[in-house]
Amino acid sequence: MSTRTAAPPARLEARVDLDALRANVRRLREIAGPARVMAVVKADAYGHGMVPCARAAVEAGAAWLGTAVPEEALALRAAGLDVPILTWLHAPGDDFEALVRAEVDVSVSGQWALAEVLEAAERAGRLARIQLKADTGLGRNGIQPHEWPLVVDEAVKAERAGLLEVTGLWSHFACADEPGHPSIRAQLTRFHEALEYAESAGLRGRLRHMANSPATLTLPESHFDLVRPGLAVYGLSPAPELGTPAEHGLRPVMTLRGRLALVKWVPAGHGVSYGHTYRTGGETRLGLVPAGYADGIPRAASDRGPVLVGGRRYHVAGRVAMDQFVVDFGPGGPDEHGPAAGDEVVLFGPGERGEPTAQDWAEAIGTIGYEVVTRIGGRVPRVYVG
Ligand SMILES: *Cc1c(COP(=O)(O)O)cnc(C)c1O
Repeated sequence: MSTRTAAPPARLEARVDLDALRANVRRLREIAGPARVMAVVKADAYGHGMVPCARAAVEAGAAWLGTAVPEEALALRAAGLDVPILTWLHAPGDDFEALVRAEVDVSVSGQWALAEVLEAAERAGRLARIQLKADTGLGRNGIQPHEWPLVVDEAVKAERAGLLEVTGLWSHFACADEPGHPSIRAQLTRFHEALEYAESAGLRGRLRHMANSPATLTLPESHFDLVRPGLAVYGLSPAPELGTPAEHGLRPVMTLRGRLALVKWVPAGHGVSYGHTYRTGGETRLGLVPAGYADGIPRAASDRGPVLVGGRRYHVAGRVAMDQFVVDFGPGGPDEHGPAAGDEVVLFGPGERGEPTAQDWAEAIGTIGYEVVTRIGGRVPRVYVG
């Protein structure tokens, strides 16, 4: 059985299905409506390639784009994307003036940020756009409840002075991927309290948002005016307990595949790869996969990461090295059409051809699908289809 569906892949490539991404965004709009969708494209669109994915998301109706760091937001503007963009992770001394000039919405999680954005607005001679972020319990970024009134009051003052516009009020969940977790309700309550204060202080009618992918998929009351899915845009489910992507009407966007660099017979008892953590059980055929930890294949996948070759599942034999790993195909008779050098090897994809998924890799090594796709390295070309 052949697993080829298109031209043979390169040595190794991450195939990014932009049709699937557009369909995912449309599906998320349907789930969230009437709330709108901010497609989160931080971290090179979770490893999928930021600009092409951002363009496709906007084509499919994403009203906003979300980035972690300023450079990402500025790169989107430089690529000609002119939808509203929010960026939320910066440090003192970052180039807020560039963000103000590029009309990027800057999240404010403390007084220092408000002060630096105001200075930047003054230097630019432009109105800054900010969104105030409340820490409603995540304990990471955001303004603590005791500081919220102070920062809100200062922002209102600056807005009345014509220095900035507060475009949004927002927060982020800690445990949205565990439906029923008591912190979810507690965070919603604190967010409502934060909104109440801000609205009474003069910030009525601003965009309110809180939902990441898991909350978008499972918690309609968290949708407010806008949802901020990241992972779901790329067609993955935030946690196996929340269901498969297909159960949410989503389809994985990335397929990581390559070609076998070598297939060879080795005798029984042969050590495989560094440290000889694996030894062949009998005379067998080993296949060499030209993908290693420099490409983002976790070394923790040694002796366990799953792959599909010729319609059959195998797994990594021995250690994942920097550039390559080995698969043991077993003996098979000499006449059998076994795997050969040049054959396609699929590490993960949507799963529709029997190939492993990013979630399968996550489970094999004890991590989350987010990390599996995001860590795929810069040496792996992204090939866009759709
Ligand atoms: C990454 C991130 C998101 C998207 O999270 P997903 O779980 O991938 O949907 C949303 N909001 C903030 C603040 C984030 O950092």
